[in-house]
Amino acid sequence: MTEYEAVIGLETHIQLNTTTKIFCSCKADSWFDPPNSNICPVCSGLPGVLPVLNRAVVEKAVLLAAAMHAEIQTESCFDRKNYFYPDLPKGYQISQYDKPLARGGYLDLPLSDGSCRRVRIHKLHVEEDAGKTKNERGRRLIDFNRCGVPLVEMVTAPDLRSADEAAQYLIRLRQLLRWLGVSEADMEKAHLRCDANVSIRPKGADYLNPKTEIKNVNSIDAVRDAIAKEIERQIREVEAGRRIEAWTLEWDEDSGKLRKMRSKETEADYRYFREPDLLTLHIDDAWKNGILKNLPELPLERRQRFMEQYGLPEYDADLLTGERSLSEYFESAVKAYGGDPKRVSNWMMNDVMRMLNESSRTAAQLQLTPEHLAEILKLLDSGTINTSTAKGLLEKVDASGKAPATIVAEEGLAKVSDDSAIRRVCEEVLTENPKEVQSYKGGKVTLIGWFVGQVMRKMGGKADPSLARQILEELLR
Ligand code: ZN
Ligand code: MN
Repeated sequence: MTEYEAVIGLETHIQLNTTTKIFCSCKADSWFDPPNSNICPVCSGLPGVLPVLNRAVVEKAVLLAAAMHAEIQTESCFDRKNYFYPDLPKGYQISQYDKPLARGGYLDLPLSDGSCRRVRIHKLHVEEDAGKTKNERGRRLIDFNRCGVPLVEMVTAPDLRSADEAAQYLIRLRQLLRWLGVSEADMEKAHLRCDANVSIRPKGADYLNPKTEIKNVNSIDAVRDAIAKEIERQIREVEAGRRIEAWTLEWDEDSGKLRKMRSKETEADYRYFREPDLLTLHIDDAWKNGILKNLPELPLERRQRFMEQYGLPEYDADLLTGERSLSEYFESAVKAYGGDPKRVSNWMMNDVMRMLNESSRTAAQLQLTPEHLAEILKLLDSGTINTSTAKGLLEKVDASGKAPATIVAEEGLAKVSDDSAIRRVCEEVLTENPKEVQSYKGGKVTLIGWFVGQVMRKMGGKADPSLARQILEELLR
């Protein structure tokens, strides 16, 4: 039996989070606005108006291109891509064709087996978004608000080998876009959109078979599901002796099925020609270097450094660099704590990240600062508080913004390790529970945990539990 491998390339469109649109001064984000309320003569294609390129679009695109290791072109041009569709009022999209903003580049994907998949991109270009259409009670409605929102388009080489790798690519791309601050990258809001080209071939072969294109996949799970389904379908077809035809397929989220849309148009159908209303875009070294001064350490570089510099396991380093402010939080906390970085990592992964998830915040939005976390760990190390108090403190500090030591003093949370105070409570607990004492003495020694619990409860969680246990065992002897 032949073993097959998938050959997958992704075409992604990324909405840049600039304040205004690419060629006019309408605001770029109109997610909460009523339809057709955020438009002007330029973006709605009225005659006699001229587009003016938004500088911020170029700057964000250059930053992304550099992070994708692409070669930024000194000269690039805008072109008209002509097609008819109701959401495109001008009858053409201003895009870049043969002279894109950047060429080449790649994104590395660390795979679960420890290896790395390098996914190349051919080019990176900027263009304007089109409007949206929707069907409502048998009528086709059009909203032009999205016309002219800046997009970056990147097409990968067919370097991905499974549905899961395709999903990984989008996860890493989304991480990078947010890290750089160039896009909100929310797939549900269509900030990040993806079409997938899929074909199969016998494993190890070096030729390409006809491919199909899957459109309308708007979540990472949908990308994974749709591609997996399509790979299965192609294998069934080939095994049955049929040919794969170059269809365009549409993913239907609700039924989990692929539907044939149309046969694919070719590039010649778009009659590309230079946009006569815009000048050649020159990005000289001074401008480029000014932009690249703001290029931060990239997620994968930081992930590697966390393993080397702090001795973190790969799992920890990956999680802590999932989001930029989280990675910065970790480093600040380690610095303020001065102790074992792995201890800081554990507290962040178990407790801080839970707090973030429960409240859908980023680390930058916490009132509990890295310095607070470090202080709590030091209070714990010095024996001033016990672990359960420390966990409660995280929440209290986050809610109030007060320093941990202040809350400990105000609420009297310091651990009671005064032998006589604990002993008094232990004696009380034993007198109040003669039945349990009897069963303990009769051999049910596991009851010791229950006795410790009673002591902790009476002392508001502040007793040193190991000391309480020691005293109870002694008293019960
Ligand atoms: Zn406008
Ligand atoms: Mn495009």
